[in-house]
Amino acid sequence: MPADAFIHHMPKAELHIHLEGAIEPATLLRLAERNRVALPADTVDGLQAWFTFHDFPHFVEIYLTIQSCLRSADDFSLVAYELGADMARQNIRYREATVTPYTHLLQEKGLAAEEIIAGLEDGRRRARRDFGVELRWILDIHRNLTMPAVANVTTQLALDWVDRGVVALGLSGNEATASAAHFAPWFQRAKAAGLASTPHTGEIAGPSSVWQAVHDLHADRIGHGVRSIEDPHLLAYLLEHQIPLEINPTSNVCLGVYRSLEQHPFIHLLRMGLCVTVNSDDPPLFNTTLTQEFQRLAETFDLDENDLQALTLNAVRSTFLPADEKRQMEEEFVRQIESYREPLS
Ligand SMILES: [Zn+2]
Repeated sequence: MPADAFIHHMPKAELHIHLEGAIEPATLLRLAERNRVALPADTVDGLQAWFTFHDFPHFVEIYLTIQSCLRSADDFSLVAYELGADMARQNIRYREATVTPYTHLLQEKGLAAEEIIAGLEDGRRRARRDFGVELRWILDIHRNLTMPAVANVTTQLALDWVDRGVVALGLSGNEATASAAHFAPWFQRAKAAGLASTPHTGEIAGPSSVWQAVHDLHADRIGHGVRSIEDPHLLAYLLEHQIPLEINPTSNVCLGVYRSLEQHPFIHLLRMGLCVTVNSDDPPLFNTTLTQEFQRLAETFDLDENDLQALTLNAVRSTFLPADEKRQMEEEFVRQIESYREPLS
């Protein structure tokens, strides 16, 4: 079977995608109209052109503009539902999406934290009903905001919302702004209460940031972690403990971590036996989808059906679902893949 067809049929799980960064231009237009926010363009094409990221300040500008369009529970419900509709289109059965609540509260748009989770919960429920897909949330501390209030509020919300789909505490933003170790007390608190830890590290900063994630934040997964390739001891540690890496290839190229996909360490990490997963990060901003990430990797690195199956099963095993639900999902994925893949020769 051609790789594209195999990838299209393959059931998928995605672990690293940002709610705000996944909003499609058409949805953003709806939100902007609803909330009377002026956007740089008023058509899907115009917005797509503006969306296509060209440097980091532009990326931040797009992000803040998107956030300013989310103002009510209904808005959060809409974008959560759209995330589910996109899953159905790409045969993604399960997604853990990152939400950054504090930056919404900081924008002083009169939004209460309760409205955020009520909207997310409504969208998640409607997506399950209409598309049969499952969503969970990772609440994210933005490391550019180093004041303790940000980490305090985010961690407390994550703990309060465990029974509304929150599974982990994350850490994003510019790694140059604050070290991962700075956030250790909050991650300790989250872990002690049963939440998982999945900080962004080893993307802009080098291996030392991944070591901090492992030692100080007790990371269960690493967001990105690609620069672990620069430290053989770290690679050995990640291999031994099978700590999954959430790799976002196109995002890494767009943000200049690697000059091209050919130069990306993906294939080395995979062949070394690390638990590598494939993700899309902020798909419309990087002009990609999860399906396209798999396609680009398959083409660039000549991945075969065994590789693709291993990658999709890595994602299932790396979810923050209870063990029995993971096992069930893995069995279901294997059954489906075996129903259409060519017999092993
Ligand atoms: Zn990310």
